[in-house]
Amino acid sequence: MSMTKGAAQPKILTEPFKIKMVEPLKITTEAYRIEKLREAGYNPFGLMADDVFIDLLTDSGTGAMSERQWAGIMLGDESYAGAKSWQRLESVVKDLSGMPFVLPTHQGRAAERILYSILGGKGKVFISNTHFDTTRANIEYTGAEAIDIPCPENMDAESDFPFKGNIDVAGLYKLIKDYGRENIGAVIMTVTNNSAGGQPVSMQNLREVSAICTANDVFLVIDGCRIAENSYFIKHREALQQDKSCKDIARETLDLADAFIMSGKKDGLSNMGGLLTLRDPELATKCTNLLIISEGFTSYGGLSGRDMEAFAAGLEEVFDEDYLHYRIRSTAFLGEGLKAKNIPVMWPIGGHAVYIDAAELYPNIPVHEYPGQALVCDLYENGGIRCCEVGSVMFGKYDDAGKLIPARKELVRLAIPRRVYTQSHMEYVLEVFDSIHSVSGRTRGYKITYEPGFLRHFTARFEKL
Ligand SMILES: *Cc1c(COP(=O)(O)O)cnc(C)c1O
Repeated sequence: MSMTKGAAQPKILTEPFKIKMVEPLKITTEAYRIEKLREAGYNPFGLMADDVFIDLLTDSGTGAMSERQWAGIMLGDESYAGAKSWQRLESVVKDLSGMPFVLPTHQGRAAERILYSILGGKGKVFISNTHFDTTRANIEYTGAEAIDIPCPENMDAESDFPFKGNIDVAGLYKLIKDYGRENIGAVIMTVTNNSAGGQPVSMQNLREVSAICTANDVFLVIDGCRIAENSYFIKHREALQQDKSCKDIARETLDLADAFIMSGKKDGLSNMGGLLTLRDPELATKCTNLLIISEGFTSYGGLSGRDMEAFAAGLEEVFDEDYLHYRIRSTAFLGEGLKAKNIPVMWPIGGHAVYIDAAELYPNIPVHEYPGQALVCDLYENGGIRCCEVGSVMFGKYDDAGKLIPARKELVRLAIPRRVYTQSHMEYVLEVFDSIHSVSGRTRGYKITYEPGFLRHFTARFEKL
């Protein structure tokens, strides 16, 4: 019987699982963490995981697998060609996507590299509700241009608008006209919209985009890393959707597209894996050639048989409505708790993460001193919490004079691993924010002392100003 229905709905959010195996956490002192962060160049990506108490760096591949997934690990068929584990993954993915060609990859970005190196190239333009960072990097690496056009409601961090992950439909129409449809590499709908606050995209928006793409003969990709979470939001927030299952909503979403890219490390509930599905046989052949050259044979991509078992089981489990209810509500628990403490959070709370507006929290730190990085560092030093800047460190560029062109927002992302932390862990995180309030008047941030050319946030080093 579902805990989410019925008369006696419990007020407390109970995790719909019990714990069978535990992973101890190391308790550290503030002095220890200050030293470790300095050694890491003030970039939490450089910290060792056992020096972190609550790790909210990413929800990617960090989830806890179920007993069914672990049982699948033992069933993994490691045959090079035609493995049973591949047949299982392929059938689950075909059932979900309705697309005839399924290419396994070791992660989502490998699927992106394969598809966008064929659709991209100099002179091509890609348009998205917001490109995720690896998506943008893979597109720009081919010489193509990536343009983000989130809906105007996305800029208002406080309104209750239920689908702030939507694309700006009028903007899409205009861009296709301006650039010429033959120059559009693809339109990419990211569901949920990771880099724009983890916000959902409505079915109506997806349908409108699909109609525009069809009318203009433009290729439509669903970046569906969190397609189950997005489907839950559609079911619970959009008119005429509540009688469908989340899985049916996901299928309907994918029916609208030409291709589906997914990282199994998100809603695949697995620690590794990715996939690309396609409808067009010619494009599938080109992609398959690249897959074999760079990832592996068609029946494993970069994956071992046991990874494919875990991925297949995860793709089924993720559509369990009690799981999705717990997942979305537990993220909201943290976000609503922060809002109650007057921490400026992106509202409404998204599916996999809570986003904090660091520029608003630290109004005295100038953008070129990276207020988001300052908050990320403060959270580690104060509470051993690791999280990620999603602002000008991640998306900033330089003009010809070397001056920073900042990102649209200075956000910090607290991403919640799936089925890993309990409510008391989240209560601890809320408590740490009390000490952040006392430093929010600070005036200096960080400067970058080293950065690579692409995806600089992963390996950049900083100095405290
Ligand atoms: C994580 C992610 C990717 C890339 O997947 P990896 O498995 O990390 O390579 C692409 N798009 C979105 C929206 C993501 O969240």
